[in-house]
Amino acid sequence: MNEIDQLPLVVIAGRPNVGKSTLFNRLVGRRQAIVSDMPGVTRDRKEGEALLRGKRVRLIDTAGLEEAAPDTLYGRMRASSESAVSQADLVLFCIDARAGVTPADKHFAAWLRRQNKPVLLLANKAEGAAATSEVLEAYSLGLGTPMALSAEHGEGIAHLMGEIADRLPDTKREKAPRSDRNARRDEGDDPEEDIRPAGPLRLAIVGRPNAGKSTLLNALLGEERMITGPEPGLTRDSIAVALHDEVGPIQLVDTAGLRRKARIEQDLERMSVSASIEALKMAEVVVLTLDATLGVHEQDLQIARLIEREGRACVLALNKWDAVEDRAATRQAIADRIETSLAQMRGIPVVTFSALTGAGVQKLLPAVRRAHEVWNSRVTTGELNRWFEAALERHQPPLVDGRRLKLRYMTQAKSRPPTFILFGTRAELLPDSYKRYLVNGLRETFHLPGTPIRLQLRGTK
Ligand code: GDP
Ligand code: GDP
Repeated sequence: MNEIDQLPLVVIAGRPNVGKSTLFNRLVGRRQAIVSDMPGVTRDRKEGEALLRGKRVRLIDTAGLEEAAPDTLYGRMRASSESAVSQADLVLFCIDARAGVTPADKHFAAWLRRQNKPVLLLANKAEGAAATSEVLEAYSLGLGTPMALSAEHGEGIAHLMGEIADRLPDTKREKAPRSDRNARRDEGDDPEEDIRPAGPLRLAIVGRPNAGKSTLLNALLGEERMITGPEPGLTRDSIAVALHDEVGPIQLVDTAGLRRKARIEQDLERMSVSASIEALKMAEVVVLTLDATLGVHEQDLQIARLIEREGRACVLALNKWDAVEDRAATRQAIADRIETSLAQMRGIPVVTFSALTGAGVQKLLPAVRRAHEVWNSRVTTGELNRWFEAALERHQPPLVDGRRLKLRYMTQAKSRPPTFILFGTRAELLPDSYKRYLVNGLRETFHLPGTPIRLQLRGTK
């Protein structure tokens, strides 16, 4: 085996023309020792050795590999990178900050996230602080914090070298299992979230005993057969239930709460909360089911707060509507109570129906779909910052210790639920009241009712 094979492998990937080759040359510098024993690597200067902060690494540039590969841009990018990425200890994913995040970047990033490799996200061509908002927009790729640099002008290269070295083992042999060893994600990032491939919408129906969850489930299933069986990731006594609507498949997660009820007579109230926790964790959208004849119980609020804390989308289902006398007043009273207790999720959609008679049940899944969309939504950095500037003008950020906080810009780091990062000098000192002002503004301006919204603060120098 060649000696270079023992070195940690760093792969530069990204769509054509973002500056991969330029970066490769920067990193390799004079050490152009070319060893080409990787299948598919035919052209020169695609592989070399670099010395980064005293650490030797093997570097592969996937640029140029595209030419040999199939038809579409996506196909080419992927085919060219697949084998290199599969062997990589670290992937440098480059975008062109001047061009902003393109569909091809998104496509490639989504694929890359599924490879579970440590990735450094590089926003190239950002010399002289050019393209700041595009750099921030790169957060939306879900690959952590973008590093702005300029391969051509050499800006940010020394810093990058250090960051690479920090993430690499010395040699392959010393290396711990690949898994997440060097993976670094943004704080507040939920690693489960973006990695999961698109599949059925995962729905949980939760609520207190006797709210009518089982009856609702049967009404939803209608003619559909229950699919039961051991489902990986579900608790032992859960059953997986598949539904369909016009949009596509919906998987009902965790029906354990429904089934356990039959066996345990005692302590149902406490059970309903703990069963809800399990269901929540697996769900994207949660239907909080209430017996509308009984109004809102403390237990309901407890579950609602859990939904908020876990960052799930929520639909409030008022069941037993057939037995409610004053419907308008009941609806208002319940919605008010939920809203005041859950200001962080203002605008939760409310659906009324009778699971028993089936009247109104057809409104539920469309409301679930809408809540899911809101929860998934993305705001572009441009729109966001136009709104942000206006919001700052309407209400100046407060003084803290006699000095005004300088808030600079915002970016949406991820969705599911919508999560925003606010950058500014001493931003971390921002009082809650001002945070609420911003969150409420985001909710209204970008139409984000009923979803938890996260706002993270980042102090800058
Ligand atoms: P690759 O196809 O991804 O390997 O991209 P190249 O390295 O061939 O670069 C594509 C083009 O972008 C070339 O014209 C480079 O000179 C230019 N380029 C690369 N890095 C930078 C940079 O940091 N700033 C600017 N402005 N242009 C760059
Ligand atoms: P779960 O404990 O939440 O699963 O509740 P169930 O589905 O077992 O329902 C509890 C009780 O409420 C049963 O007696 C149901 O028949 C009754 N129920 C459920 N839905 C409705 C409804 O829409 N209207 C009325 N009047 N009763 C209902």
